[in-house]
Amino acid sequence: MKKFKTVDELINVIKPSDPVYCIRKNSIKKATKVFLQNFPGKILYAVKTNPHPFVVKTLIESGIKNFDVASIKEIEMIKKINNDLECSYMHTVKSRESIKDAYFKYNVKSFSLDTKEELIKIIESTEQAKDLELYVRVAVSNEHAEIDLSKKFGALSSEAIGLLRLTKQYAKKIGLSFHVGSQCMHPISYAKGISEIGNIIKKTKIIPDVINIGGGFPTIYPDLIPPSLDSYFNEIKTALEKLKLNKMPEIICEPGRALVAESGSTIVKVNLRKKQKLYINDGTYGTLFDGGVPNIVYPSKIITNGRMISKKMTAFDFYGPTCDSLDYMKGPFILPNNVKENDYIELGQLGAYGLTFRTQFNGFYSNEIYEVEDEPIMTMYDRDKNKGSLVA
Ligand SMILES: *Cc1c(COP(=O)(O)O)cnc(C)c1O
Repeated sequence: MKKFKTVDELINVIKPSDPVYCIRKNSIKKATKVFLQNFPGKILYAVKTNPHPFVVKTLIESGIKNFDVASIKEIEMIKKINNDLECSYMHTVKSRESIKDAYFKYNVKSFSLDTKEELIKIIESTEQAKDLELYVRVAVSNEHAEIDLSKKFGALSSEAIGLLRLTKQYAKKIGLSFHVGSQCMHPISYAKGISEIGNIIKKTKIIPDVINIGGGFPTIYPDLIPPSLDSYFNEIKTALEKLKLNKMPEIICEPGRALVAESGSTIVKVNLRKKQKLYINDGTYGTLFDGGVPNIVYPSKIITNGRMISKKMTAFDFYGPTCDSLDYMKGPFILPNNVKENDYIELGQLGAYGLTFRTQFNGFYSNEIYEVEDEPIMTMYDRDKNKGSLVA
């Protein structure tokens, strides 16, 4: 992959007419180090967040050995890099064919479920395997998350009790899991999830071999400034101690966004300005999907190329390149007042849920990906740098 010192240098050299995407190795390394040093357990990278091989390989170089996957394609991609890497199939609804392939072809032993029907599918598709690690996923409140996952997955506490008892009979190792929702803005969500697990343990008298507290760890956006990751780790440790278990289960987590968001930027070009509306060359059918309905506001920075830039800032909204009116990003994206046609804009925090959302819709697609070595526009991992926005 071609490498540039900075985004500015990249734009000056390439002068791209299509959107380009950058990856920062150092951001991935920094984030991974914080998790490896401070999380009290094992870290599984949630592959869907950014499955680009360069990103996955950088995570591996940084010490990640385990992967949370949701499809056979994701398993194949990881195993192609190194057959010894461990995949856990943490989607609670899988086809029988993919359970069978995961187990027999790729040696995957860990599966999650939230119904008896799925348990039966797993048992039958693995021909009553005796070495399964099965996770019962419990529904927990996603009240503090920007992106709610609770409506789709998870057994209600009342159902989880019977399901845990039943699943234990078929599992070599039994786990309980939950997900607080993505971009979780308050550490207390993890404490509540862990306490919910505690209630199930009390009622069933089954101490699981593993507690999986899922993903959801936040990154930083201009309008979403979460508490430090330390406070998340501390809340989790305290909540686990409060369970007062004789033997502490193994703890795992499945971060996606927090590990890779800062590593990626999308550089767009302005095709037209209509007052406070900018028509740009990437949008919700490209990497900016989350700028649409979830209305994620990416940090934005104009690439000056030596041009005089107004100090006065203005709030813009963005329109993507396709003809669909859903290809709209409300923002507000704060940029200098004199932004105009042909300007380049860097949008940050797109290492997570960016590249992976690209479609070919309407003939717009770019696969121009470069490595850069400068710092991300905003960071969770060097909070002093964000003092300005933190004070706000
Ligand atoms: C999406 C997902 C994750 C990663 O979530 P982030 O919010 O990106 O950390 C982890 N686990 C499961 C089961 C998921 O579906």
